[in-house]
Amino acid sequence: MWVDGWGHLPGQLIVVSGPSGCGKSTVIDRALANPRTSAQLSVSSTTRAPRAGEQDGVNYHFVPDEHFRAAIERGEFLEHAEYNGNLYGTPAEPVYRALSDGKCVLLEIEVKGAMQVREHAPGALFVFIKAPTFAALEQRLRARGSEIEASLLRRLRIARSELDKAHCYDIILVNDDLDRCVEEFTTLLISYGCGG
Ligand code: 5GP
Repeated sequence: MWVDGWGHLPGQLIVVSGPSGCGKSTVIDRALANPRTSAQLSVSSTTRAPRAGEQDGVNYHFVPDEHFRAAIERGEFLEHAEYNGNLYGTPAEPVYRALSDGKCVLLEIEVKGAMQVREHAPGALFVFIKAPTFAALEQRLRARGSEIEASLLRRLRIARSELDKAHCYDIILVNDDLDRCVEEFTTLLISYGCGG
Protein backbone atom coordinates (compact mmCIF):
# COMPACT_ATOMS: atom_id res chain seq x y z
CA MET A 1 0.00 0.00 0.00
CA TRP A 2 2.91 2.37 0.66
CA VAL A 3 5.19 1.59 -2.17
CA ASP A 4 3.75 3.05 -5.38
CA GLY A 5 4.81 6.24 -7.07
CA TRP A 6 7.45 7.66 -4.73
CA GLY A 7 9.03 9.62 -7.56
CA HIS A 8 6.87 12.73 -6.97
CA LEU A 9 7.74 13.21 -3.28
CA PRO A 10 9.68 16.41 -2.53
CA GLY A 11 12.32 14.88 -0.23
CA GLN A 12 15.53 13.20 -1.38
CA LEU A 13 16.03 9.49 -0.79
CA ILE A 14 19.63 8.25 -0.54
CA VAL A 15 20.34 4.52 -0.59
CA VAL A 16 23.71 3.32 0.67
CA SER A 17 25.00 -0.23 0.28
CA GLY A 18 28.34 -1.89 0.67
CA PRO A 19 29.71 -5.21 1.87
CA SER A 20 29.68 -5.96 5.57
CA GLY A 21 32.97 -4.61 6.98
CA CYS A 22 33.49 -1.85 4.38
CA GLY A 23 32.93 0.80 7.06
CA LYS A 24 29.67 2.17 5.67
CA SER A 25 28.00 2.60 9.08
CA THR A 26 30.94 4.68 10.31
CA VAL A 27 30.94 6.79 7.15
CA ILE A 28 27.18 7.38 7.42
CA ASP A 29 27.23 8.13 11.17
CA ARG A 30 30.07 10.62 10.81
CA ALA A 31 28.52 12.34 7.81
CA LEU A 32 25.16 12.65 9.59
CA ALA A 33 26.84 13.99 12.75
CA ASN A 34 28.25 16.85 10.68
CA PRO A 35 26.16 20.03 11.20
CA ARG A 36 26.54 20.77 7.47
CA THR A 37 24.18 17.84 6.72
CA SER A 38 20.58 17.18 7.57
CA ALA A 39 19.17 13.73 6.88
CA GLN A 40 17.14 11.13 8.69
CA LEU A 41 18.51 7.60 8.91
CA SER A 42 15.76 5.01 8.47
CA VAL A 43 15.54 2.38 11.25
CA SER A 44 15.11 -1.04 9.67
CA SER A 45 13.33 -4.07 11.04
CA THR A 46 15.24 -7.32 11.34
CA THR A 47 14.83 -10.85 12.64
CA ARG A 48 18.55 -10.92 13.56
CA ALA A 49 19.41 -11.06 17.26
CA PRO A 50 20.78 -7.79 18.69
CA ARG A 51 24.57 -7.55 19.01
CA ALA A 52 26.13 -6.31 22.23
CA GLY A 53 25.33 -2.63 22.64
CA GLU A 54 22.56 -2.54 20.02
CA GLN A 55 19.27 -1.01 21.13
CA ASP A 56 15.79 -1.88 19.94
CA GLY A 57 14.24 1.04 18.08
CA VAL A 58 17.62 2.75 17.67
CA ASN A 59 19.86 0.41 15.67
CA TYR A 60 17.01 -1.77 14.44
CA HIS A 61 13.49 -2.79 15.33
CA PHE A 62 14.28 -6.35 16.44
CA VAL A 63 11.22 -8.46 15.66
CA PRO A 64 10.35 -12.16 15.68
CA ASP A 65 10.20 -13.93 12.33
CA GLU A 66 6.40 -14.27 12.36
CA HIS A 67 5.93 -10.53 13.03
CA PHE A 68 8.25 -9.71 10.15
CA ARG A 69 6.40 -12.03 7.77
CA ALA A 70 3.02 -10.60 8.82
CA ALA A 71 4.34 -7.09 8.12
CA ILE A 72 5.41 -8.25 4.63
CA GLU A 73 1.89 -9.56 4.04
CA ARG A 74 0.41 -6.23 5.11
CA GLY A 75 2.67 -4.44 2.61
CA GLU A 76 4.43 -2.45 5.31
CA PHE A 77 7.94 -2.60 3.85
CA LEU A 78 9.34 -0.41 1.13
CA GLU A 79 11.74 -3.28 0.50
CA HIS A 80 12.85 -6.38 2.30
CA ALA A 81 15.45 -9.08 1.78
CA GLU A 82 17.04 -12.09 3.37
CA TYR A 83 20.68 -11.67 4.36
CA ASN A 84 22.86 -14.30 6.04
CA GLY A 85 19.82 -16.26 7.25
CA ASN A 86 17.91 -13.27 8.64
CA LEU A 87 15.25 -10.94 7.26
CA TYR A 88 15.77 -7.19 6.98
CA GLY A 89 13.29 -4.58 5.79
CA THR A 90 12.64 -0.85 5.59
CA PRO A 91 9.33 0.21 7.20
CA ALA A 92 7.74 2.27 4.44
CA GLU A 93 5.54 4.66 6.40
CA PRO A 94 8.20 6.73 8.25
CA VAL A 95 10.23 7.06 5.05
CA TYR A 96 7.17 8.10 3.05
CA ARG A 97 6.19 10.70 5.64
CA ALA A 98 9.66 12.20 5.87
CA LEU A 99 9.98 12.40 2.08
CA SER A 100 6.50 13.97 1.88
CA ASP A 101 7.72 16.61 4.35
CA GLY A 102 10.61 17.38 2.00
CA LYS A 103 13.23 15.76 4.24
CA CYS A 104 16.27 13.80 3.23
CA VAL A 105 16.14 10.11 4.13
CA LEU A 106 19.01 7.70 4.13
CA LEU A 107 18.64 3.92 3.85
CA GLU A 108 21.57 1.68 4.72
CA ILE A 109 20.55 -1.57 3.10
CA GLU A 110 22.00 -4.51 1.23
CA VAL A 111 21.98 -4.86 -2.55
CA LYS A 112 18.81 -6.92 -3.18
CA GLY A 113 16.73 -4.45 -1.19
CA ALA A 114 18.37 -1.50 -2.94
CA MET A 115 17.34 -2.90 -6.32
CA GLN A 116 13.71 -3.07 -5.08
CA VAL A 117 13.86 0.58 -3.98
CA ARG A 118 15.02 1.55 -7.46
CA GLU A 119 11.68 0.31 -8.84
CA HIS A 120 9.60 2.43 -6.45
CA ALA A 121 11.70 5.56 -6.12
CA PRO A 122 13.34 6.47 -9.41
CA GLY A 123 14.60 9.79 -7.99
CA ALA A 124 16.69 8.12 -5.29
CA LEU A 125 20.48 8.36 -5.32
CA PHE A 126 22.27 5.01 -5.03
CA VAL A 127 25.69 5.02 -3.37
CA PHE A 128 27.96 2.00 -3.01
CA ILE A 129 30.79 2.08 -0.46
CA LYS A 130 33.59 -0.45 -0.77
CA ALA A 131 36.82 -1.32 1.03
CA PRO A 132 40.00 -0.77 -1.04
CA THR A 133 40.64 -4.53 -1.40
CA PHE A 134 38.93 -7.78 -0.49
CA ALA A 135 41.76 -8.59 1.95
CA ALA A 136 41.15 -5.28 3.75
CA LEU A 137 37.46 -6.14 4.00
CA GLU A 138 38.20 -9.53 5.55
CA GLN A 139 40.64 -7.95 7.99
CA ARG A 140 38.06 -5.36 9.13
CA LEU A 141 35.35 -7.97 9.54
CA ARG A 142 37.66 -10.17 11.64
CA ALA A 143 38.77 -7.21 13.75
CA ARG A 144 35.12 -6.45 14.53
CA GLY A 145 34.97 -9.86 16.22
CA SER A 146 31.18 -9.93 16.32
CA GLU A 147 30.70 -13.09 14.29
CA ILE A 148 31.42 -16.76 14.66
CA GLU A 149 33.67 -18.06 11.85
CA ALA A 150 30.87 -19.68 9.81
CA SER A 151 28.82 -16.49 9.81
CA LEU A 152 31.89 -14.43 8.94
CA LEU A 153 32.69 -16.67 5.98
CA ARG A 154 29.08 -16.35 4.81
CA ARG A 155 29.35 -12.54 5.04
CA LEU A 156 32.53 -12.67 2.94
CA ARG A 157 30.79 -14.83 0.33
CA ILE A 158 27.87 -12.38 0.24
CA ALA A 159 30.37 -9.52 -0.03
CA ARG A 160 31.79 -10.99 -3.25
CA SER A 161 28.35 -11.13 -4.86
CA GLU A 162 27.53 -7.60 -3.61
CA LEU A 163 30.74 -6.25 -5.14
CA ASP A 164 29.58 -7.69 -8.48
CA LYS A 165 26.55 -5.38 -8.25
CA ALA A 166 28.48 -2.17 -7.52
CA HIS A 167 28.10 -1.08 -11.18
CA CYS A 168 24.30 -0.81 -10.65
CA TYR A 169 24.87 2.18 -8.31
CA ASP A 170 25.10 5.85 -9.30
CA ILE A 171 28.24 6.48 -7.26
CA ILE A 172 30.98 4.23 -5.85
CA LEU A 173 33.06 5.51 -2.93
CA VAL A 174 36.25 3.67 -1.93
CA ASN A 175 36.85 3.71 1.82
CA ASP A 176 40.65 3.56 1.77
CA ASP A 177 40.97 6.66 3.94
CA LEU A 178 38.10 7.11 6.39
CA ASP A 179 38.34 10.90 6.71
CA ARG A 180 38.39 11.36 2.96
CA CYS A 181 35.51 8.95 2.40
CA VAL A 182 33.43 10.73 5.07
CA GLU A 183 34.18 14.08 3.43
CA GLU A 184 33.24 12.77 -0.02
CA PHE A 185 29.99 11.35 1.28
CA THR A 186 29.21 14.54 3.21
CA THR A 187 29.79 16.66 0.11
CA LEU A 188 27.58 14.29 -1.88
CA LEU A 189 24.75 14.61 0.64
CA ILE A 190 24.94 18.39 0.55
CA SER A 191 24.99 18.48 -3.24
CA TYR A 192 21.81 16.34 -3.27
CA GLY A 193 19.92 18.78 -1.07
CA CYS A 194 20.68 17.15 2.29
CA GLY A 195 22.46 20.20 3.70
CA GLY A 196 21.86 21.42 7.24
P1 5GP B 1 23.99 -6.26 9.94
O1 5GP B 1 23.47 -7.61 10.35
O2 5GP B 1 25.48 -6.26 9.79
O3 5GP B 1 23.47 -5.14 10.79
O4 5GP B 1 23.41 -5.96 8.47
C1 5GP B 1 23.58 -6.90 7.44
C2 5GP B 1 23.23 -6.27 6.11
O5 5GP B 1 21.83 -5.94 6.08
C3 5GP B 1 23.96 -4.95 5.86
O6 5GP B 1 24.43 -4.96 4.51
C4 5GP B 1 22.91 -3.90 6.06
O7 5GP B 1 23.15 -2.76 5.27
C5 5GP B 1 21.69 -4.65 5.55
N1 5GP B 1 20.42 -4.07 6.01
C6 5GP B 1 20.16 -3.40 7.16
N2 5GP B 1 18.89 -2.99 7.18
C7 5GP B 1 18.32 -3.40 6.02
C8 5GP B 1 17.02 -3.26 5.43
O8 5GP B 1 16.10 -2.66 5.97
N3 5GP B 1 16.83 -3.84 4.22
C9 5GP B 1 17.81 -4.50 3.56
N4 5GP B 1 17.52 -5.01 2.35
N5 5GP B 1 19.05 -4.64 4.06
C10 5GP B 1 19.30 -4.11 5.28
